[in-house]
Amino acid sequence: MPPRFREPALNALVRTVLSQHTSDANSDRAFEQLRRRFPRWDMVESATDAAVASAIRTAGLSNVKASRIRAMLAELHRRHGRPTLAPLARMRDVDAMEALLRLPGVGPKTAACVLLFGLGRDVFPVDTHIHRLCRRLGLVPPHATAERTQELMAGLVPRGRAHELHINLIRHGRRVCRARRPRCAECVLSPMCPSSVSTERDGVERLARGHGRRGAAYRRTSQR
Ligand code: SF4
Repeated sequence: MPPRFREPALNALVRTVLSQHTSDANSDRAFEQLRRRFPRWDMVESATDAAVASAIRTAGLSNVKASRIRAMLAELHRRHGRPTLAPLARMRDVDAMEALLRLPGVGPKTAACVLLFGLGRDVFPVDTHIHRLCRRLGLVPPHATAERTQELMAGLVPRGRAHELHINLIRHGRRVCRARRPRCAECVLSPMCPSSVSTERDGVERLARGHGRRGAAYRRTSQR
């Protein structure tokens, strides 16, 4: 099933760049300010980095992001005569992915986000939350990079479920399977998760099998 909320592919590309290392609220605000200040993408391309950076300040890293966005627009202009991603709509997933990866500063996650959110393709992007969850759930090896995780998950996600799974895993990673102190005791995935620490005692026992001060304290008390 295609995503319910689609937007032009170029909007999805710029939104994804703006979303790096900041909250959704900040990147959404930056996108709206950018569109208000420069209603057309060719206006962004011909503006200065400083003017674009000023418009997207709320997204953070504004100088880097402004320069990256303008470089992408310039490359699209060179390829298609104007800054557009419209030709991707006629390409197969693999070709559209390859065309995106040839844009300056675009990696596999950004390219997959454009395919999913801008073109409605059944492609599964792996962000930092999904990367963490996939490793904790044992879906990919513990040391798999985010890029490798995206490759491996492409073969595991059921057809037609990429959008739903992407959105739900990000939500789960933010609310429950947080980077620090995951809330395993209230996690619906706990029964199937090899990393689950579902009770305080369970957690301390796991620590006791390893090292650290909490583990040593557990070993002392349990031997009394
Ligand atoms: S059980 Fe814990 S580690 Fe596993 S997915 Fe849930 S919160 Fe994450």
